[in-house]
Amino acid sequence: MARYRDALCRLCRRESEKLFLKGDRCYTDKCAVERRKYAPGQHGQRRRKLSDYALQLREKQKAKETYGLLEKQFKKYFYMAERKKGVTGSNLLQLLERRLDNIVYRLGFAANRRQARQLVLHGHFTVNDRRVNIPSYLVRAGDTIALKESSRKLNVIEENISKIEHRGMPGWLEMDTGNLRGRIRNYPSRDEIELPVQEQLIVELYSK
Ligand code: SF4
Repeated sequence: MARYRDALCRLCRRESEKLFLKGDRCYTDKCAVERRKYAPGQHGQRRRKLSDYALQLREKQKAKETYGLLEKQFKKYFYMAERKKGVTGSNLLQLLERRLDNIVYRLGFAANRRQARQLVLHGHFTVNDRRVNIPSYLVRAGDTIALKESSRKLNVIEENISKIEHRGMPGWLEMDTGNLRGRIRNYPSRDEIELPVQEQLIVELYSK
């Protein structure tokens, strides 16, 4: 499937917002948004007043890029969110948070979602003791996500694991660092999802 292969920092600079796509570098002063707070390209420093449509589009792009999705995949989540009871915008973010690659990242097994996606694809994780290698797999409340015993020796995973305790953990997840098992306590509410996105604008964009 097609993937975005250009520089990740360009995406953050386009939104003038840190999307934390790289991992450790995002927390240092080497972050491109810290150094150049304007959009990339020849006209990046031009000041423009955004139309309503442009504002809605930018919010959608931010969410889509944060979770590393393509348009078609993102739209699929929107339609799923629309069919669920409750507020469509919050449902959408909740569905995105429930993706297995996101959970692996949130639990601290991976430095960023892109790396989490690759680790999942390579079959390093189990869900309720069964191997799952589908990054878009939607976890459920009560599910247990664990690193396979044989994968603990991988350098990249060892490095991420050594930092697990220093990273914050969302309240809706819990982690047993000794056994390298995480659990979904409950589905996250909007307040528990740290994402600088106005989801209402995404709903307006797709509801036209
Ligand atoms: Fe975005 Fe991270 Fe690059 Fe900063 S370092 S621009 S947060 S991907």
